[in-house]
Amino acid sequence: MTQEPEEEFSSKIDLNLWKRIFRFALNHKRLLIPLTLSALVLSLIDAAFPIVTMMAVDIVENEGVPKDLLPVAGIYFGLTLGLAGLVYLFIRCAGGISHHIAFDIKRDCFKRLQELEFSFYDKQPTGWLISRLTADCDRLSRILAWGFLDLMWGSFFVLAMSITMLILNWKLALIVLATIPPLVAVSIYFQRKMLLTSRQIRKHNARITASYNEGIAGVKTTKTLGRETENLNEFEGMSTDMYSASVHRALLSAIYLPLVMIIGSIGSGLALWYGGLNVLSEAITLGTLVAFISYAGNFFHPINQIAQIMAEIQGAQAAGERVMSLLATEPKIRDSEQVSEKIHSHSTSNNQSEATAIDGHESYIRDIDFSDVTFSYDRKNTVLNKFNLTVKRGQTIALVGPSGGGKSTIISLVSRFYEPVEGEIRFNGIDYRERSLAWLQAQLGIVLQTPHLFNGSVMENIRYGRLDATPEEVREAATLVNAHDFIMKLEDGYDTVIGEGGARLSTGERQLISFARALIADPQIFIMDEATSSIDTETEKLIQDGMQRVFKGRISFVIAHRLSTIRSADQILVISKGEIEEQGTHAELLAQRGHYYHLYVNQFRREGEENALEAG
Ligand code: ADP
Repeated sequence: MTQEPEEEFSSKIDLNLWKRIFRFALNHKRLLIPLTLSALVLSLIDAAFPIVTMMAVDIVENEGVPKDLLPVAGIYFGLTLGLAGLVYLFIRCAGGISHHIAFDIKRDCFKRLQELEFSFYDKQPTGWLISRLTADCDRLSRILAWGFLDLMWGSFFVLAMSITMLILNWKLALIVLATIPPLVAVSIYFQRKMLLTSRQIRKHNARITASYNEGIAGVKTTKTLGRETENLNEFEGMSTDMYSASVHRALLSAIYLPLVMIIGSIGSGLALWYGGLNVLSEAITLGTLVAFISYAGNFFHPINQIAQIMAEIQGAQAAGERVMSLLATEPKIRDSEQVSEKIHSHSTSNNQSEATAIDGHESYIRDIDFSDVTFSYDRKNTVLNKFNLTVKRGQTIALVGPSGGGKSTIISLVSRFYEPVEGEIRFNGIDYRERSLAWLQAQLGIVLQTPHLFNGSVMENIRYGRLDATPEEVREAATLVNAHDFIMKLEDGYDTVIGEGGARLSTGERQLISFARALIADPQIFIMDEATSSIDTETEKLIQDGMQRVFKGRISFVIAHRLSTIRSADQILVISKGEIEEQGTHAELLAQRGHYYHLYVNQFRREGEENALEAG
């Protein structure tokens, strides 16, 4: 089971960070402005209700005429209607804004994740980061929409009540307002504690569920090893932790609510006592006293909301940091400024001839040169040291040798998934960094050992290589790579849906589809990375045969574990410790009786033995 890094609860709110996050909300001013206005008006209406009550009480106290009460009731009704309309408005605005923000943040993250180079993904915690991102984005959008609304409403409400009270009677107002600081302190303290405990409960719960599932799934092993008692003890231990956390959470709620009630009632009591004295001395009306008592009881709700959202902001700070730091990560492998400018001027001048690539260079590849290429993944361990290689159009280069020798690295460098630390990789004599990434991508066809297929039809999967390919072109590509026959044998031919990751196909069949997918884009460079190493000999022959046909007139690189795949390569390079140990054709290398010869003979013997075993 993968252990998630512990999520910290930030003790300080990083205003700079939240300002940057808030920009996502600012992009939706059309919703943000009505949201803020509705929060403002809503708080004013909420603050106006005690005034209406005051008016009614004063009319009654002064023995006014019954018809004077009618307008007051009308105002009350009007305010309630306004309140209802505003509630409708803010739910629509906050819901809309939350949805838009979540979409924007997720889209930006997705775009950045696609732009980032392989070395970003080499770093250990990225897998965890990516799996967390969706939840992080949702959390931020909720805070930016609903949290913002609560914060606005709460602050406006407290402010509106305070100002109204100060206007009505400042001395009485100060007595009631004196209860606010302890109310704020208690609310912030308890909300924070309750959020932390809720998080602990969730964590315990997840552990219990995981342990429950594991216990059931592994019941046979448990029984065979006689580990039932230990498992039960462990389970009980986890349940006890969960129980303690739940009791703690309930205890916090049980203390919090009565505590704020006591603080509130002290305010109300003081208002009642001092206000009562004022009524007796006729300094204020009875209506004013009633309004004050009502205000004193109204402070808890907005302050509680503000404290809650503050706690949530603190709790979500780590999520905010993760998202913003991903968005701030600039891709290291990208088009240089000169290349971007060239592409821009070409697209605006609109005189792009077919023979010219989008970045202004010719698109026909005659040769690829590795010139003194030095490379390291971590700037410490050198994988390639002044590596040199020239490949001409029409040639197939096979890379063989011990695992960890550097074969995949060479291919990753040609594909510009990584760039040389020193030296150059040149296409027709021009450093590929002077060309655009889009140009290079268009020239590459790559077939990996475990190709990823999408859940869709065979047709859709092959067409993924070139989205405007016609069904005829798809069939043509499939025929060229020898995939057509097996596809026709599938239930619905090209329309067969192949399941997630191509689950319904064998590895070899997946390779064939991936081969057709690479071919359909008509790339000038073909790369096969161990494509035939884990498939049956029959499919290997099909692929081999397809390779012969497809590689003609192109430049191709083949990493092969099975040497039978690459017998006809123009050059076979034995790569070991980042260097070319041997180089030549199959026949030349066999004649040398070196490393390749031994690899070949060993494999030949092993396969011969396996075949003999299978036959006999
Ligand atoms: P091969 O394809 O011949 O098995 P590789 O090119 O994969 O060899 O690896 C060459 C060396 O680079 C090995 O020492 C390997 O551990 C290291 N290496 C490969 N990929 C990475 C990576 N993403 N990050 C760090 N080191 C790597």
